[in-house]
Amino acid sequence: AGMAAPRLNLDGDVIKPLKICMIGAGGFIGSHLCEKLMYETDHSVLAVDIYSDKINHLLQPGQKWSDRIEFHKLNIKNDSRLEGLVKVSDLVINLAAICTPADYNTRPLDTIYSNFVDALPVVQYCRENKIRLIHFSTCEVYGKTIGSFLPPGHPLKQDPAFYMLKEDETPCIFGSIDKQRWSYACAKQLIERLVYAEGAENGLEFSIVRPFNWIGPRMDFIPGVDGPQDSVPRVLACFSNNLMKGEPLKLVEGGKSQRTFIYIKDAIDVVQRMIENPSRANGQIFNVGNPYNEVTVRELAELMTDVYCKVSGQKRPEQATIDVTGMEFYGPGYDDSDKRIPDMTIVKKQLEWEPKTSLYDLMESTLTYQHATYAEAVKRSMSKTTVN
Ligand code: NAD
Ligand code: UDP
Repeated sequence: AGMAAPRLNLDGDVIKPLKICMIGAGGFIGSHLCEKLMYETDHSVLAVDIYSDKINHLLQPGQKWSDRIEFHKLNIKNDSRLEGLVKVSDLVINLAAICTPADYNTRPLDTIYSNFVDALPVVQYCRENKIRLIHFSTCEVYGKTIGSFLPPGHPLKQDPAFYMLKEDETPCIFGSIDKQRWSYACAKQLIERLVYAEGAENGLEFSIVRPFNWIGPRMDFIPGVDGPQDSVPRVLACFSNNLMKGEPLKLVEGGKSQRTFIYIKDAIDVVQRMIENPSRANGQIFNVGNPYNEVTVRELAELMTDVYCKVSGQKRPEQATIDVTGMEFYGPGYDDSDKRIPDMTIVKKQLEWEPKTSLYDLMESTLTYQHATYAEAVKRSMSKTTVN
């Protein structure tokens, strides 16, 4: 058989196979990144996580990539094997974190430890062994927009200078300490500052990624099916669960907050570009989102209801949504980001990348997956609860 032409990066250099230590590889983003690397590249992955359910399909023996992926079941909090895995790698990607908002105000200690303390040794091992690091942060480090402090209806709210989030200009604005929602954002901000300082003072080669609401198949869990009955996942899984149960979608504080959603597969493309273009990615902080897919949470609920009815053949419920307070839904200490539009200048310039998929299209493929994967199990779990 003829040899396939070598793949080239954005500067025309041949891409050499890398050994990548991916921490948090069993999560939502990790599972998609592992798929991409196995299906479309020659890179190898040391996949570190406590769980492997979302990547088990890649770990079955006898597939053409089987010698390029190895699962290491370990908790990075307390496992000395981590350093050895970092040392033998060309690149570390750290995705491990507690990152569901329902945890930030109810488990603030776990949130801070997970996002800061547990990430510290990873940064240190990379610095000591001169290993490149791609660290996953969050758009939430921006906190609230400057415009959110203007009175309602103020004309400057329409001025992008008051809401557009730019990596190298926008300040990080969090609520008071008793608003424990911000424990996550604050821990992520401090680990970003530490990684950045390791770059500046000690020459660590790093990139920081700030995802803006990446969504798609395999995100989180459906309560009572493949996750705890009383846990609250992120909004995609909450609304999917409500739709499959035929109950109204709960809008926190009227669903007035705004978000921009990006399809996971678009976002994974740019992570691959970061991996394969170190000279363009090192030293950078990247917003990664889709600025064109902005909706209020209320609009998201309406859209998801329409799309779910289309893909499932279910009839549209009379009452699609119901308003709840943040206190009722998340408990004390909840607060919210008002609006999140990523400025895309840096990622576009450095990595020549733009998102492609519209909100409607990404919702159609995601809800088709949710319906096929969960609808039957949700019905079964509901009939069980009625009998008991
Ligand atoms: P996820 O919860 O699906 O994945 C995180 C994975 O890390 C999980 O599989 C978990 O088991 C693992 N993990 C956590 N603690 C660990 C530990 N101590 N030892 C070993 N493994 C551990 O979340 P995700 O959506 O894939 O997010 C990945 C990263 O991206 C996180 O750092 C998150 O803060 C960031 N992020 C994601 C989004 C998004 O839109 N999905 C938005 C902002 C930030
Ligand atoms: N939200 C909601 N109903 C739900 C779940 C979430 O109204 O059932 C809202 C939440 O208050 C926030 C937005 O949806 O304004 C997005 O929440 P998510 O948990 O996905 O994470 P965030 O974008 O806040 O990090």
